[in-house]
Amino acid sequence: MEVAVLGGGAAGFFTAISCKQHHPDARVVLYEKTEKLLAKVKVSGGGRCNVTHSCFTVSQLVKNYPRGEKFLRKSFEHFHTNDTVKWFESRGVKLKTEVDGRMFPVTDNSQSIIDCLVAEAEKLGVWVKTGASVTAIEKAGAGFVLKFMGDNEKKVNKVIIATGGSPKPEGFVWLKNLGHRIEPPVPSLFTFNIPNNDITSLMGVAVENASVWIEKTKLKQQGPVLITHWGLSGPAVLKLSAVGARVLSEQHYNFKAHVNWLGELNEEEARIKIADELQTSNLKKISNTKPFDIPARLWLYLLDKSGIGEETRWSELKKENRNRLINYLTNHELEVKGKTTFKEEFVTCGGVSLADVNPQTMQSLVCPGLYFAGEVMDIDGITGGFNFQAAWTTGFIAGRVG
Ligand SMILES: Cc1cc2nc3c(=O)[nH]c(=O)nc-3n(C[C@H](O)[C@H](O)[C@H](O)COP(=O)(O)OP(=O)(O)OC[C@H]3O[C@@H](n4cnc5c(N)ncnc54)[C@H](O)[C@@H]3O)c2cc1C
Repeated sequence: MEVAVLGGGAAGFFTAISCKQHHPDARVVLYEKTEKLLAKVKVSGGGRCNVTHSCFTVSQLVKNYPRGEKFLRKSFEHFHTNDTVKWFESRGVKLKTEVDGRMFPVTDNSQSIIDCLVAEAEKLGVWVKTGASVTAIEKAGAGFVLKFMGDNEKKVNKVIIATGGSPKPEGFVWLKNLGHRIEPPVPSLFTFNIPNNDITSLMGVAVENASVWIEKTKLKQQGPVLITHWGLSGPAVLKLSAVGARVLSEQHYNFKAHVNWLGELNEEEARIKIADELQTSNLKKISNTKPFDIPARLWLYLLDKSGIGEETRWSELKKENRNRLINYLTNHELEVKGKTTFKEEFVTCGGVSLADVNPQTMQSLVCPGLYFAGEVMDIDGITGGFNFQAAWTTGFIAGRVG
């Protein structure tokens, strides 16, 4: 049996290795269009490669995938985060877990992952061809003919497509031509640009637990928010961008975001806390007595926006300024105009429709003998190692070709 794996990224390598493990006698050839193998792994996680996440329960794990949650529930039964840890550690790559659950090689160097994958593929006898760009696939009897850039052709029995995401729909035409439905690609995991707003003067301020929601949508997330020199970032914003990838693209990234800097505290609760503070700190300066667990720089900024001077004492707080402060604290409106791609971990939402793929085998439901692995499918996760986990899982399953 000759199996062609298209794409030399994380999913392609894991697929080819799995294929050789399950079918030692098969000729497995991995075709990569560029001269570089595992290029994204190299730059991933700021050069450290966030391999997976220490979330070991399938029901919890799937919640980290805005696209693919239902599909992956079945796939993770075959290979999940625990298997990833065991897989790398049994091949000499020890992983460590950071406080937020992200897992990295103990070397803090993505090269450890690359070396491991390349060595394993070589050991098992996977053939690797670089500079081989597949431009079309045609059915030929029970197998396929691959057409390469430069008019070369190759007959194979099975094909596994692990060519990654594409920012443009044209990148999926060759898969559409085989009968697959394509979910239009749009970016996921981006930060919000808030131009011409003095909030950016607070760059570097991190609020541990804020709520962010988008006006006229149901999109809302709670968690850490970071103020940057261009707008808002941090886990809550990135998750919002992932969950709302399609809706926000339709709005051309122009929308109103609202922030409750107090996270769980609502307007009424904030009002009560302020009333309490007024009682206890009557003669103290408001700028010096912060009743909420937010950074001092943000407190001073919000006081200023509410028209409350640095010298103002609680006893001097006017009703009008108090109402403004409560509004800024719990419902700060910010005009978002555009997005900035999150450089640490960038993925595309969209790709081959999951309705056309069997989650237990990764085989195409419209083109038997053809399989998928990785980001080429309409699967993407939030930050934290979930995207690579999807690549390992789908690659492992696809490699079984059966
Ligand atoms: C900067 C950055 C950092 C990231 N960091 C992390 C992280 O730390 N943790 C995490 O979980 N995720 C991370 N991600 C996301 C993660 O890298 C991707 O989800 C993952 O690489 C997808 O793997 P893949 O093999 O499906 O696709 P890719 O890695 O994109 O690989 C696809 C390969 O196929 C090749 N190819 C394409 N078309 C053809 C063709 N026609 N013929 C032959 N070859 C072809 C491409 O050249 C490419 O090498 C990061 C992404 C970026 C951009």
